[in-house]
Amino acid sequence: MRIDILTLFPEMFAGPFDASIIARARAAGVLDIALHNPRDYTTDKHRIVDDYAYGGGPGMVMKPEPIFDCVDAVRPMADAPGKLVLLTPQGRLLNHDVVAELAEEPRLILICGHYEGVDERVRAFLVDDEISIGDYVLSGGEPAAIVLVDAVARHQPGVLGSELSLEEESHAQGLLEYPQYTRPAEFRGMAIPEILLSGHHAEIAKWRRRQSILRTARRRPDLLAKAQLTPEERRLVEEELARE
Ligand code: SAM
Repeated sequence: MRIDILTLFPEMFAGPFDASIIARARAAGVLDIALHNPRDYTTDKHRIVDDYAYGGGPGMVMKPEPIFDCVDAVRPMADAPGKLVLLTPQGRLLNHDVVAELAEEPRLILICGHYEGVDERVRAFLVDDEISIGDYVLSGGEPAAIVLVDAVARHQPGVLGSELSLEEESHAQGLLEYPQYTRPAEFRGMAIPEILLSGHHAEIAKWRRRQSILRTARRRPDLLAKAQLTPEERRLVEEELARE
């Protein structure tokens, strides 16, 4: 997968893209990331990328020309035309399904806004999709792009140690993941659940499923309402919650 990122602050990506999963995906050749600065596509002496908002109001708006010109130059840099995504707090919310959908694309071109945002013509006439990483406002699209790239990288084949870890993680099945423990089995008087030491894989799988369902019921009832549960599992949730 190739990801092009248009950003006025390419230095913000050093670090996050050079460590852990993203670095591993890049080293394995399954993720190719290229950064492009719209400022390099300005034609005036002062390389201006922002201007005052028509109609007044505080803050500056990113000008359309450097963004359109940058996209025109970046598109031919790879075979696939790429899905053009604007990071914006007004976009559709990033969740597991949206990440899985974007991870299927051979190429993404991400546009990071800054200041008061980008000229509306970028949104209306250039981009294919708009993504928000949550209902709050960041100073720029760069942290949002890093979040999106990390989440998408995990879906690329061979990036995670085991494909199973992706399927079992929170949100993959519409549920939160069960509690995880590692050695030692007892620490400062806190013992791990006996079942995990039993070596009985079927019983452990049952325990984990139950924990996953109950944890989701307690923390994210909104998710549980949409999850696929058997009638017995729904009964279990009702009984457990009634007891609390
Ligand atoms: N004035 C804009 C508004 O009210 O919708 C907010 C602009 S914000 C200060 C600057 C840039 O940060 C945006 O253009 C966008 O690229 C990015 N950004 C801010 N919050 C975001 C979010 N929740 N998800 C994705 N990108 C975000």
